[in-house]
Amino acid sequence: MNGSTNSSRVAIIGAGVSGLTCGVVFAERKVIPWALATYKVLVDLTKDPGSGVSMIELRQYCRAGKIPIPEWAAPFVISTEVEKSFTVFYTGLSLNVPHMDTTIYLDYLVNRFQKAGGSINPNVRFEELEDVDPKFNLVINCAGIGARELAHDIDLEPHRGQVAIVPKIDNLKCAIVCDDAPLMYAIPRTNDCVFGGTNDVSNDLAANPATTTAIVDECSRVLKIDNPRVLNERVGLRPFRKSGVRLECGKRRDGRTVIHNYGHGGSGFTLSWGCAETVFSFSSSAE
Ligand SMILES: Cc1cc2nc3c(=O)[nH]c(=O)nc-3n(C[C@H](O)[C@H](O)[C@H](O)COP(=O)(O)OP(=O)(O)OC[C@H]3O[C@@H](n4cnc5c(N)ncnc54)[C@H](O)[C@@H]3O)c2cc1C
Repeated sequence: MNGSTNSSRVAIIGAGVSGLTCGVVFAERKVIPWALATYKVLVDLTKDPGSGVSMIELRQYCRAGKIPIPEWAAPFVISTEVEKSFTVFYTGLSLNVPHMDTTIYLDYLVNRFQKAGGSINPNVRFEELEDVDPKFNLVINCAGIGARELAHDIDLEPHRGQVAIVPKIDNLKCAIVCDDAPLMYAIPRTNDCVFGGTNDVSNDLAANPATTTAIVDECSRVLKIDNPRVLNERVGLRPFRKSGVRLECGKRRDGRTVIHNYGHGGSGFTLSWGCAETVFSFSSSAE
């Protein structure tokens, strides 16, 4: 995908959430005020029904003991006494968080990027960063797990996640999450509900039917409902980087500037606007 700042032509490798968010920030920078934190951006987006972003109550449970409240979460906590009868869990807390319905949100980013003058070239796969057309003087690497080969980064590993898509669940208005093994979550979306999940080091993109059954069984048990029918099974690879997100500016072998923005693991959506803002600030100082 490509866009432009005032004087530069910019190529972004990857049109996933990181690449698209960088695209929007770059393409709109002329008209949008500089500094907006990710949370504020998402809260603002809830006012746009077409964005797929809405505020949702997230009920985070644990299977044993008392759930710790991380410092960052304190301002968003609604209650530490969550409804107990709703699930089989006993302790948890509830938070008010933005929810991005990915079936809507990525298309929203695509439309917004294109409206601001950016363009997307689908089906382009680069072997090397230097393969990007020389007319682009800045390259932003948002290749996700693809950066393992593209940036020769062996620190990256695919954390495979499988989910089952089921019909909307009656009366399920909040997201239910339990990170203790077995990982379990039920996230209501506009038109359906996502049941999860798994997290294993693997790059196998094929859905495993036995895993789907286990996910649906556990979610139904927790929600105290009969097993719903499965509309779809999905597998994604979280681009996990052992040494953390790579968000840095460097030079390619041909001397052109590259800004790396990958390795967000299971937090790519959560970090997307903040990272895109940092990428943009790097680009200003690189010019
Ligand atoms: C089951 C599951 C649940 C998740 N839940 C959450 C959640 O609740 N909250 C959250 O924040 N995150 C969550 N994540 C993680 C989130 O989905 C990822 O962190 C995010 O999608 C990463 O986005 P990205 O744009 O960096 O990479 P990607 O989405 O992988 O996009 C990379 C793009 O680059 C392209 N590309 C790669 N290599 C090349 C190349 N050589 N040349 C050209 N193009 C290339 C790819 O085709 C792709 O389009 C979840 C992930 C999974 C699997």
